[in-house]
Amino acid sequence: MAELHCHTTASDGVVSPEELVEIAEHMGLDVLAVTDHDTMEGALRARDHSLATGARVEVIVGMEVTTRRQDHIVGLFLERAPRIFRSVPDTVDEIHAQGGLAVAAHPFLGLPSSISPDRLRDALRKCQFDGIEAENPYMRKGSRDRLTAFLRDHSEGVGAQVGASDAHFGDLAKAVTLFEGRGATDLRRALEKRTTIPAVGRVSHPKPSLRAHLQNQYRSLLRLPVMRAGTVWRQWREA
Ligand SMILES: [Zn+2]
Ligand SMILES: [Zn+2]
Repeated sequence: MAELHCHTTASDGVVSPEELVEIAEHMGLDVLAVTDHDTMEGALRARDHSLATGARVEVIVGMEVTTRRQDHIVGLFLERAPRIFRSVPDTVDEIHAQGGLAVAAHPFLGLPSSISPDRLRDALRKCQFDGIEAENPYMRKGSRDRLTAFLRDHSEGVGAQVGASDAHFGDLAKAVTLFEGRGATDLRRALEKRTTIPAVGRVSHPKPSLRAHLQNQYRSLLRLPVMRAGTVWRQWREA
């Protein structure tokens, strides 16, 4: 069982990468993809922690990449941080070029960070996704209907269907990805064969405190923009 989307204090999450690994280990997850906004720092720390402590849970280094139009794309199995604020096809191509897999995050929610059916349809003319978050805690009837309709016509280009929590408070496994086997290699194979199964996790987490919510908001609204500005500056200098 895998959790494929979560955040740490490296972006706008409120638990450290190390704590997140401990939570995943305690919950008995097989695979944990750490996918902070626009940085791989948390994922690398999480992977180091799981290796150093001999944890059973295997950490995949990922990143939730912000594109030019603010759509969110999750890159998995990454070697280096993809550039941010680029088009969806360019982002997907950059993830693929380093051997990573690209997943459309929390699609069709009608929010700025959530890709719309039109934009995904446009992108699929130029690139292929490896997966789509078909189960996540934000899904409502409207977004589910849009997803069902979309998958009817475009199941080829979007790849495997996965479940993911987009956890910011250590509240892992609200939505999970089931796959045959156990570790990250088996998961990758299942994604490529499109045999993964999205599922809703029956877990109960303590309600995040007001303090945790404020930390999340502070990081999301104040710290992330500053971090992204630095990233864009470095990208510009390296271009
Ligand atoms: Zn997102
Ligand atoms: Zn996220």
